[in-house]
Amino acid sequence: MMQENEHIQNRERMDGDHVFQFSCSPGLSCFTQCCQDVTIVLTPYDVVRMKNALEITADEFLDKYALILSKEKKLIPLVLLKMDEQDKKCPFVTKDGCSIYEDRPWPCRMFPLDMNDDGTFRIIADRARCLGLSSSEKWPIGEWLIDQGIAIYEQMNDLFAQVTTPLQATDLDIDNPKIYQMTFMALYNLDKFRDFVFKSTFLDKFEVDQTTIEKIKRSDIELLKFSFDWVKFGIFGQKTFIVKQEPETTSSPA
Ligand code: SF4
Ligand code: SF4
Repeated sequence: MMQENEHIQNRERMDGDHVFQFSCSPGLSCFTQCCQDVTIVLTPYDVVRMKNALEITADEFLDKYALILSKEKKLIPLVLLKMDEQDKKCPFVTKDGCSIYEDRPWPCRMFPLDMNDDGTFRIIADRARCLGLSSSEKWPIGEWLIDQGIAIYEQMNDLFAQVTTPLQATDLDIDNPKIYQMTFMALYNLDKFRDFVFKSTFLDKFEVDQTTIEKIKRSDIELLKFSFDWVKFGIFGQKTFIVKQEPETTSSPA
């Protein structure tokens, strides 16, 4: 998902046990050069991690740092990290590196690698520009991914893919803008989705057990999983939620 805009090389298919050579450090003359003029697609989990790191709301994050590209008849827009209009730099890059390093998005964790659709990996960085690829430090890809903290991103992105994959090949014929807004809110604006769950009649309408209520109150990850289920219920009609039965009205004898 993150690509240097030119000179994409090495379109290989490497398995997780493949060893590649790489080391990135501030001493390299290319340091932070890869944090400009790049296309970084953000998933819902990326947005949660980044807006929490910045201690701002999802609304503020999306306003300030995201480009939202809607496509006709597609339910879920593409959400990109907005580069500075003048110098094309990422808003979070500093001379010392990434200012949100612990919460950087998935593509930044993967770089200089990217994942192919079949689960193999390829190097996407240009060897002439990414000097870290000339290092003698060796990494089995699997170990590299652990070191980069990829596991939770993979888990959350797999759940997101259960929503996006069925939609990819489909042109939706939905002309109700509220459905688009609700879906986007549930996926990308967790603060608003939390209000929707806890400050509307949501919990009066759907069966949600107390353990789940406690979990989604406490944890953004659990709330995001809950929102994926909500979209699957609303869009695909999957039985991820149970509508509460209306209490039967009994007419009193005259
Ligand atoms: S170009 Fe490669 S080595 Fe240089 S800072 Fe970026 S990832 Fe590190
Ligand atoms: S989020 Fe961090 S690692 Fe990613 S492009 Fe921006 S500064 Fe670089």
